[in-house]
This record gives sequence, C-alpha cells and structure tokens, in this order.
Amino acid sequence: FLSGKRALVTGSTSGIGLAITRALHAEGADVVLSGFGDEEEIAKLQEELSASYSGADLSTTEGVAQLMEEAGDVDILVNNAGMQFVSPVEDFPPEKWDKIIALNLSSAFLTTHHAVPHMKKAGWGRIINTASAHSKVASPFKAAYVAAKHGLAGLTKVLALELAEHNITANCISPGYVWTPLVENQIPDTMKARNMSRDEVINEVLLDSQPTKKFVQPEEIGAMAVFLCRDEAQNINGANWSVDGGWTA
Ligand code: NAD
Repeated sequence: FLSGKRALVTGSTSGIGLAITRALHAEGADVVLSGFGDEEEIAKLQEELSASYSGADLSTTEGVAQLMEEAGDVDILVNNAGMQFVSPVEDFPPEKWDKIIALNLSSAFLTTHHAVPHMKKAGWGRIINTASAHSKVASPFKAAYVAAKHGLAGLTKVLALELAEHNITANCISPGYVWTPLVENQIPDTMKARNMSRDEVINEVLLDSQPTKKFVQPEEIGAMAVFLCRDEAQNINGANWSVDGGWTA
C-alpha cells in the first residue's frame, strides 16, 4: 500500500532502522538507506532493497543537508539514527554530550526542516521518530541520551500540532531494550559504571526493566512503523507508542 511513496529511515544500515526499512519496502515504498557500515554489506542491502544510500554524518548540520539533498523528496521520514554513551555525569565527556544531542535530537529537527515542504505540497506525510522508553523515564549514567530522547518526544508533539491540517502526522515509537549493536556495545561501560558482570548487566539492568523479561525484536518496531503509515492511523498524531514489554507502565 506504499507504492509511489518514498521513505527515508536515518540510521538504516543496522538494527531497528534496517528492520523499519525492510518493513516499509515490503509494503512497496521506495527506500533510502542511511548510516555507516561495511561497504560490501551496504551494497548487498542496496541490492536487496533496491535502495539508494547516503553515508552522510548526521551529527553535523552539513551532513543532514547532504543526506536530504541525496534523498530527494521524502513522503515518510523516520528519524532513527542514534547513539548511546554510558558514564557517571562527572566523567561524562562534554564532547559526547554535544554529539549525542546533535545526532539523537538535532538531526531529527533538521531532516524535518528539509522534508516538510514536499510533504505539505503532496498533502500527505508521515514523520516517525524512534524515541525510547528513555523519552519517558530515566536511567542513571545516560545523561545525554535521556535528555535527547525527552527532547525528541517534545519535538514530535510540536510537529504533530503544527502539521496536522496538512495530513502529516508525527509520532514516536518508543522501544524498550531491543537486541542490536547499540545495546550490545553499552554492556562493557555499564559493567564498569555499575561494577557488574556481563550476565548481571543483561539480567539485572537490561531485562530487569522489561516485565516480559524478553528483548524486543527489531521487526516489531518495523510493524508499528508500517501501521502508522496506514490510512487507519491518520488520527494517530502526537502519540508516543511504547513497545517496551511494560517497562514504562
Ligand atoms: P544501531 O547501532 O544498530 O543502529 C544505529 C544506526 O545509526 C546505524 O545505521 C548507524 O550507522 C547509524 N548512525 C550512527 N551514527 C551515525 C551518524 N553520526 N550519522 C549517520 N548515521 C549514524 O542501533 P539501534 O539499536 O538500531 O538504534 C536505532 C535507534 O533506536 C536509536 O535512535 C536508538 O536510540 C533507538 N533505540 C534503541 C533501543 C535498543 O534497545 N536498541 C531502544 C530504544 C531506542
């Protein structure tokens, strides 16, 4: 049902972004891949998804402008690129703070800034932001990430109000812990910050938050993104959908 629509998912070479891209492609959307990674693997993904690709660095204003230039007119914009850093606040490097705010929050403003004129002209658009359970609640040692995700939830509400009459909706999907490189890579720093073993981090920190005691699968987020693109979802606007096994309940 998405043929003729062009979808850009930022940070789609891996994890959740890739699963959302696959799900939108399966419904007929033209897809644009974005993010970093191994050249050969990206070439394979491009072939699998008949996708164009931009390797622009979205932690810079110029990088986002480059991506939007390469992506062309976009009907479905999924702001998904993000990174994590785990550290006690007194050791948290200010440069990491700036980078995470730039990538996890500012890039979503900037892509939207570029994408909205076409959506308004087309009279249809979908903006979907991959936020997080951390857009609703906090955890220690994640100052920049939690601040950025709360900011992303706020930005999404503004867009929802501002664009509603143009048939453009803006919503967040807020996963709990999804098993992707982003989660796997934070285990060593969490072990250090909390003085725990790897298994303790997995069971007592990560899965402890999720009443289901299971990691969310990336495909579950892809399915939710597809639903938000349907006509039946035209009145879902400014919502922040939890997919977190009950964490934020
Ligand atoms: P991931 O590390 O698997 O993927 C991140 C993607 O972003 C990759 O494609 C990577 O190349 C891209 N990226 C990173 N830095 C970039 C930059 N500077 N410029 C352009 N692209 C860049 O992570 P993921 O778990 O799939 O995370 C995707 C989103 O989901 C993030 O916003 C993350 O905060 C959010 N999220 C993840 C979880 C989880 O448990 N994995 C939970 C809640 C929210």
